[in-house]
Amino acid sequence: MADTKWVYLFNEVDEVEKKVGKWDNVRALLGGKGAGLADMTRAGVPVPPGFTVTTAACNAYLAEGNKFPAGMWEQELAAMKETEKLTGKKFGDPNNPLLVSCRSGAKFSMPGMMDTVLNIGMNDATAESLAKMTGDPRFVFDSYRRLVEMFGSVVLGIPDEAFEHPLAEYKAKKGYKLDTEMTAEDWKAITETFKAVIKREKGFDFPQDPYEQLRLATEAVFGSWNGKRAVDYRNAAGIAHDLGTAVNICTMVFGNMGNNSGTGVAFTRDPATGEKKMYGDYLINAQGEDVVAGIRNTEKIENLASEMPAAYKEFLDITSKLENHYHDMQDVEFTIERGKLWMLQTRSGKRTAKAAVTMAVDMANEGLISKEEAVMRVTPEQVDTLLHPQFDPKAVDAAKKEGRIYAKGVNASPGAAVGQIYFDADKAEEMAKEHKQAVIMVRPFTKPDDVHGMLAAKGILTSEGGATSHAAVVARQFGVPCVVGASMVKIDLETRQMSANGVVVKEGEWISVDGTTGNVFLGQMPTTAPKLEEQVDLLTLLKWADELSRLQVWANADYPKDAQRARSYGAKGIGLCRTEHMFFEPARLPIVQDMILSDTSAGRTEALDKLLPFQRADFAGLFNAMDGYPVIIRLIDPPLHEFMPDEEKLLEEVIEMRVKGETKGLAEKEKLLASIRGLHESNPMLGLRGVRLSIYMPEIVEMQVRAIFEAAADETKKGIVVKPEVMIPLTGTVKELEWIQPRLIRIATQVMEEKGVQFDYKFGTMIEIPRAAITAGEIAKLAEFFSFGTNDLTQMTFGYSRDDAERNFLVKYVAEGILPKNPFQTLDQEGVGRLMRMAVEEGRKTRPSLEVGICGEHGGDPDSIEFCHLVGNNYVSCSPFRVPIARLAAAQAALKHKPGSSYAEDK
Ligand code: ADP
Ligand code: MG
Ligand code: MG
Repeated sequence: MADTKWVYLFNEVDEVEKKVGKWDNVRALLGGKGAGLADMTRAGVPVPPGFTVTTAACNAYLAEGNKFPAGMWEQELAAMKETEKLTGKKFGDPNNPLLVSCRSGAKFSMPGMMDTVLNIGMNDATAESLAKMTGDPRFVFDSYRRLVEMFGSVVLGIPDEAFEHPLAEYKAKKGYKLDTEMTAEDWKAITETFKAVIKREKGFDFPQDPYEQLRLATEAVFGSWNGKRAVDYRNAAGIAHDLGTAVNICTMVFGNMGNNSGTGVAFTRDPATGEKKMYGDYLINAQGEDVVAGIRNTEKIENLASEMPAAYKEFLDITSKLENHYHDMQDVEFTIERGKLWMLQTRSGKRTAKAAVTMAVDMANEGLISKEEAVMRVTPEQVDTLLHPQFDPKAVDAAKKEGRIYAKGVNASPGAAVGQIYFDADKAEEMAKEHKQAVIMVRPFTKPDDVHGMLAAKGILTSEGGATSHAAVVARQFGVPCVVGASMVKIDLETRQMSANGVVVKEGEWISVDGTTGNVFLGQMPTTAPKLEEQVDLLTLLKWADELSRLQVWANADYPKDAQRARSYGAKGIGLCRTEHMFFEPARLPIVQDMILSDTSAGRTEALDKLLPFQRADFAGLFNAMDGYPVIIRLIDPPLHEFMPDEEKLLEEVIEMRVKGETKGLAEKEKLLASIRGLHESNPMLGLRGVRLSIYMPEIVEMQVRAIFEAAADETKKGIVVKPEVMIPLTGTVKELEWIQPRLIRIATQVMEEKGVQFDYKFGTMIEIPRAAITAGEIAKLAEFFSFGTNDLTQMTFGYSRDDAERNFLVKYVAEGILPKNPFQTLDQEGVGRLMRMAVEEGRKTRPSLEVGICGEHGGDPDSIEFCHLVGNNYVSCSPFRVPIARLAAAQAALKHKPGSSYAEDK
């Protein structure tokens, strides 16, 4: 192990690449930040010299019980010597000191890792000599106290307050409001105070030896990989726990050397809207995290053009090169030291759902990326977010007029959130998780250890910080609506309330946060769903997605208006129309009940004849809406008792009438009660329903088929292209189909003859009973299509009743790891999925042209959609609202599983 190379200079990236191959592996070894610094160095971008201790070193350190692996420290010292050569300075030399920062950086950027420590190498001796050399003791002691403070809190784990309180007291005593009023002597005094804090808290002195500082900082970064914050974040973001973090040691450059210096953070495109425009903040005469921390009010990046024109021009030049190089929007950090620009970080920037779509489409149109890449850049969840509710514009207008806008801040992460406010992360998480409340987390600003509360919250509000603050970045990444920097809001963490313009809101009370506009409203605002037709970029992206996918997306729709919506969302067919909904309408239910109560086939037929025109009209509407596309209509499925009045209520009525001696209508009620009792089943889910009911009482489905074909014929005559597909539910044996299907086909052909038109149609079945999946080869002899009803198929494969399972034990099963996920949300691929795979294979052996789809709720779940792609489905069918999400997921499945695809998973 001693000959393992654990440390690479920023200028050694060629060597790393040669060793580990593709860029993804370079990022894995050097971490994202280290790889970016090295890559920029290679490209000739001004990066302060430095080096990276690899993630492999971190893993080895942790594996060996917190011991540096053999050779690592020596290599770190050697790299420091090289850095000294490159800078012409010397680490720890009071006459010409080299100062460095120590920065963590894992493969995927993650808040929760150790914070950066700046100004390492400062001690009493170097501070004094630097003060003389620069002639700027104020700057020097400001820097020194920062080191002592950061070292104390970040490396030694002393709470921030231990440093913040004495500083606040000192300023109060001096009558200062701002840090800028502090003089050199003041900072010097504070440095001493901070050193005393360390001594008091830790029992040892702040290390004066720069190498001791470096060693402890390196160890702290390694250790932070397993810190609670980092582990929580990785769990939430689905990042593997064995990647480790790298340590970057980087020569300090100073943005706090006067008014020709500064520091900033910028995105090469607007991370909220996607607009192609530099977006960011900077501060003159400031260092490091000052911009992000939101302590001082920042300047907009474009103002730098007039303040430091040369540096700004170089900056624009570099960032546009970086964007071209990485083919993506970059999030950069820079510092200007006495007019000279230094780049300190570049990475692909986090963005909102809207920005993700806009940028992907723009970049493909600019030729920066391919259409495939554009389709892969947006996640199905992001599409979901875009179709999520916004505040109802009318309600917003009304609130504005009535002065119900409580506060305004920076619109950091779009979307509408309504919830009860809580002032700390633990409480927010508790109220959301344990008390199932909609929660808005309210803080002056957030830090990495607040992330669990932010993830649990529906929305976030801060009173400090800007569009690049911690709260904003995290909220955007996770799609949580967020308003930051609402400075009129005064938050009192002690009394747990906030006030703005004299209005007090207490913990637990409701507010509404509009992350799209930055408005905060009192109380609960109503929301509306946004229109897809208005989202031009999303429509373009989905069009590209359709060109790339093999699976079609259909929709489950019972009514013509649902079908129209589905079609406008891009559905290519109706995969499930549930006909029983049509029986429940008030005008029809009495007829349905008459039909059920009638003792004779003739009586039933009479009632059904009355229903026929209703059903025909329903189907005509569907065929019309789906002109040219297939429409799958499922014959009646639920058990008959569902159409009848509630047994208990009826019994009460009968008893009451008997007690009161009322006779009028009593006999009818008693008869009805007796029939309902006759229909009673102890387990209706497994009782007389689906095809069983059709065989028991064929008149209903005979009427339905007649209605379907009459409607189809009438529409055909009007010039509509109809493709009816009749679906028989709950088949368990092919014998059931053999019994019912020929009767129904006879009706179909008879209707077409009567009407004198011909059109294509199909008869098929749902596969929702395991026996049907197992005997699919037989079933396919009759069925021309299969549609997986994965809700029932999951229930019956597991033997769970869905409602009971979700209410009683599923949560615990998932928490205990007995099930990886709720199988009613994400398809159980090993069990239910195996049945599906088998059914497709066996079915197509019998009937190669067999059409296969899925109509359970899984049809809208991206993981399940990917599975359907692999199994060989022709389509997935989902709720109209999820059609756009499914279209993207279908394309991504195709791209991921194309032979030789570069899009295989790697998180
Ligand atoms: P994060 O991962 O939180 O972005 P960074 O390591 O990038 O942490 O650094 C935190 C802050 O310190 C950033 O503002 C960064 O620009 C600044 N910084 C880091 N290293 C240096 C350096 N060598 N010189 C000046 N500023 C630095
Ligand atoms: Mg940080
Ligand atoms: Mg950074």
